[in-house]
Amino acid sequence: MLKGKTALVTGSTSGIGLGIAEALAKAGANLVLNGFGDSVAPLAQVRAHGIQAVHHGADISRVADIEDMMNTATSTFGRVDILVNNAGIQHVASVEDFPVERWDAVIAINLTSAFHTTRLALPAMRAANWGRIINIASVHGLVGSAQKSAYVAAKHGLVGLTKVTALETATTGVTCNAICPGWVLTPLVQKQVDAKASALGLSNEDAIRQLLGEKEPSMQFTTPAELGELAVFMCSPAGNNVRGVAWNMDGGWAAQ
Ligand code: NAD
Repeated sequence: MLKGKTALVTGSTSGIGLGIAEALAKAGANLVLNGFGDSVAPLAQVRAHGIQAVHHGADISRVADIEDMMNTATSTFGRVDILVNNAGIQHVASVEDFPVERWDAVIAINLTSAFHTTRLALPAMRAANWGRIINIASVHGLVGSAQKSAYVAAKHGLVGLTKVTALETATTGVTCNAICPGWVLTPLVQKQVDAKASALGLSNEDAIRQLLGEKEPSMQFTTPAELGELAVFMCSPAGNNVRGVAWNMDGGWAAQ
């Protein structure tokens, strides 16, 4: 279905981004991966689906890096057809104790980077009259949780950016939507499980049960593969008029 299209997924060396990249590769899209750490295994994982893929190690808290990544994508594949703004970080602290440097980093990586990739990707998408921008927000783009001020602010901001981008492209073949996962067991969340286990003297399993029980009625993690299938649907012809939604996949979290 996506053969001949090019997708760029930020933060796709791990977790949700890698799951989404793999689902897009399975659907036939060529890929630009981004993110820190090992890129050899993620590249092999997506290339196994018979597509072409490159990795760019941009630190997306830096505008110059983002510009270089977008230029590399264009010079390698001609155009970015599908942009998935996924990279994100978390920091947990109360507002009055929140380190200023961590606030700036969370906003830069989780929100401002999506403004830059979007503004740089849109002209070619408009010219082709086809494009998909998918912002990986969070259930924290819809509701708050204590101790997560920067993350909740960034994710609410990302849902806002999604709506405005969708409105500005509403009469074109470009769509923009957000996906709002609840808990997904990735390295980002395992850190929070570890913190809970050590603070409360719990086993890994008990810490996971407690984490899910506080917020997620299904008591199940959403998986990167499930999120990948939702992204593929948004890229499909059936997704042509899905515009500006913040689609939660959260085990009932935001329904409470
Ligand atoms: P993860 O830690 O497994 O992966 C994050 C990815 O982002 C990695 O590839 C990492 O290298 C990359 N990254 C981090 N900082 C970067 C930077 N400055 N420049 C470039 N790349 C950078 O995290 P994840 O759980 O897969 O999260 C992915 C996205 O999903 C994030 O935006 C997160 O907020 C969101 N999300 C996660 C969950 C969850 O439960 N895991 C829930 C809701 C939303």
